[in-house]
Amino acid sequence: MSESRRERRLAEKAEKKAQKKSERHSPPLKLRGLPRRDCGACTVCCTSLGVPEVNKPRDIECSHLCGQGCGIYESRPESCRVFDCLWKQGIFETEHRPDQLGVLFTVTGQGSAFGRQCLVVHEAWPGGFENARPVLQHLSETQLLILVGEGTSRRLLGPPHLLAQAQRVLSRTLPVLQGT
Ligand code: SF4
Ligand code: SF4
Repeated sequence: MSESRRERRLAEKAEKKAQKKSERHSPPLKLRGLPRRDCGACTVCCTSLGVPEVNKPRDIECSHLCGQGCGIYESRPESCRVFDCLWKQGIFETEHRPDQLGVLFTVTGQGSAFGRQCLVVHEAWPGGFENARPVLQHLSETQLLILVGEGTSRRLLGPPHLLAQAQRVLSRTLPVLQGT
């Protein structure tokens, strides 16, 4: 076996070992919540998230949004029908509704770029991350958070062992996160 292949195999082995260790210290995300909620006056996802069916980019208010909410509610696209942020699913406190907290939470699948489920945090309005800082800090003691800011801005928060693991993944697969 060539020297570089051997080094690669050793690095992969070390990474798997580190991942197992990190999972022992920080179990996969388990989100238990309260009963599901209604959106009420919140319309954050209609601005923060992209909706391909209506050519709506991220961070731009949807052209169908009006004073009463969605102007095409009965015929709204499938991705709008099926989307529920974590707050709506009953996770987090009542007062953490995205328009009040300043951030909207979703979650990656188990097979995210980091090989584990992570919280994805979208800033709801400028200054939203700052407003939500105590909540984000508390969560980041045990979980890896992907902070999605305006444009392609991404930041990671989390405990040191998960950040170190994520940095190793990022050094190989940086472009993967561009589509988060
Ligand atoms: S961000 Fe959540 S609570 Fe707000 S409108 Fe969207 S699904 Fe409803
Ligand atoms: S189509 Fe309606 S539900 Fe979907 S993003 Fe636009 S306003 Fe919101």
